[in-house]
Amino acid sequence: MDHVRRLSQLRRRISKAGLTGLLVTQLIDIRYLVGFTGSSAALAVTRRGARLFTDGRYTAQAAQQVKGAQVEIVSGPPAISAVQWLAAQPASTIAGFDPAHTTVAELTRLRSELPSKLRRTFLTPLAAPLVEPLRLIKDDGELAIIRENALIGCRLFDYILTVIRPGIREIEVAAELEYKARLHGAEGMSFETIVASGERSALPHGKASTAPLPRKGFVTLDFGIIREGYCSDMTRTVCLGAPRSEERKAYEAVLEAQQAAVEAVSAGISCGEVDEAARSVLRKSGMADAFSHSTGHGVGLEIHEHPRLGAGQKTRLQPGMVVTIEPGVYWPGKFGLRIEDMVAVTKTGGQVLTPAPKALIEL
Ligand code: ZN
Ligand code: ZN
Repeated sequence: MDHVRRLSQLRRRISKAGLTGLLVTQLIDIRYLVGFTGSSAALAVTRRGARLFTDGRYTAQAAQQVKGAQVEIVSGPPAISAVQWLAAQPASTIAGFDPAHTTVAELTRLRSELPSKLRRTFLTPLAAPLVEPLRLIKDDGELAIIRENALIGCRLFDYILTVIRPGIREIEVAAELEYKARLHGAEGMSFETIVASGERSALPHGKASTAPLPRKGFVTLDFGIIREGYCSDMTRTVCLGAPRSEERKAYEAVLEAQQAAVEAVSAGISCGEVDEAARSVLRKSGMADAFSHSTGHGVGLEIHEHPRLGAGQKTRLQPGMVVTIEPGVYWPGKFGLRIEDMVAVTKTGGQVLTPAPKALIEL
């Protein structure tokens, strides 16, 4: 990963925001910027330097992982040391912190540890996040990892088709999938695996339960792996037995909506327009009310990142973004379904990263 380039891009943003330094406490941002994966750290970035603060448990790991920053091992909270270091740098007058990830108690504590003349003025909340916009656009190295992770997801789906049968419990399906994911090199799952069968398929976030799969009806599988820090995310809905006509009709409408939104993905289009591409198909089928969430989200080091592909969202897609397209319909007490792909935005359109079959599979 090109940590030097990321830090220099960040420095440009720090200057542009009128700051002399930045405190980074979000671990995922720290990983992105300097490669450190420990669970306790703070990163201080100035226009010239960068220093990572962590504790003694991570001495060896930090020496091995950190690129582009000096490392200092501290015994107290890393963020306090980071702020004190920032305040001690020459010509250091104002440092930003991310108010979305700092509690009032943390801020009070950080300020109280500063020299008294700096307490009121030195730490200032960022008007907009500075690291997140960088993370939105994936570089070639990131795309290669994400692409491989998405393909592993597709292989897991192929495998799980051999496991799914009436009577097996949802958690057994999830367990088989997660075990196989580990064998494929997953560090973990992106989120709790969703296996929602029968009436439970009407729950958009139906985590695998102890319910046995029914003889007939939909099973929605939504899952993702984490490998080399990056998440994958995909959903397929399969049918036990032959679908009833209302199930088939709903499946075909969701598939058409999903494909319309996938085709809409291109550099320059707004997220709201992609959402509308899916929503308008379901509206035409009289199912818009059953589509109760947004069409998709960015994916990367976190499972849910910007941009959000929802109604009215003005953010425009750019090459290097990776988003999901996942319309679904849900009728409580009856059934539901969702189909989700990961799509990389390219200069010329969108590239589907999860080529697992989408025509309805009957088991
Ligand atoms: Zn998903
Ligand atoms: Zn998703």
